[in-house]
Amino acid sequence: MSIFRPKYTIDTVYNLNPITLKKMDIKTVFSDLDNTLVAWNQKQTLEKISQLRDRLSKHGISLVVISNNKHERVNKVLEPLGIEFIASAKKPFKRNLVKAMAQYGVNPVESIMIGDQILTDILAGNSAGMQTVLVKPLIKSDGWHTWLNRLVEKFILGCLNSKEKITYQEDLHEQ
Ligand SMILES: [Mg+2]
Repeated sequence: MSIFRPKYTIDTVYNLNPITLKKMDIKTVFSDLDNTLVAWNQKQTLEKISQLRDRLSKHGISLVVISNNKHERVNKVLEPLGIEFIASAKKPFKRNLVKAMAQYGVNPVESIMIGDQILTDILAGNSAGMQTVLVKPLIKSDGWHTWLNRLVEKFILGCLNSKEKITYQEDLHEQ
């Protein structure tokens, strides 16, 4: 079960503090897209992504999106912002995360995988030996999950919570 447990939690990806990440020696933040960075294609949300990228890059930390979604969809959101991404990442398999770390020249311990799903983002990040961060989904039902996915996710969360409850705070919080 520990492979499913996030190393950290935070209310939202937008609360990530570059100073805290610096202290943790983080060089790259690999982030999920749907329900982590965007709920809808709102202009306001897009500005928030740019601001996050700028805030991190001021401290030498890069933001790279790793999404299971198709290239076309991810490109449509991120291309105008000039944010780098890997689409069709096939999380929970770690293969594309390992490739991405090699591509950006970072070690697993210098990398964060942040996302809203234990079954994909956290499992993939933990398998790749990265620092994993679970966020609250931006919206409860995003249409990308199937009911089965939600059910399994709920079951795993229940198991993890029965051992030690997963809680969220405004800042990065160790689990
Ligand atoms: Mg997601």
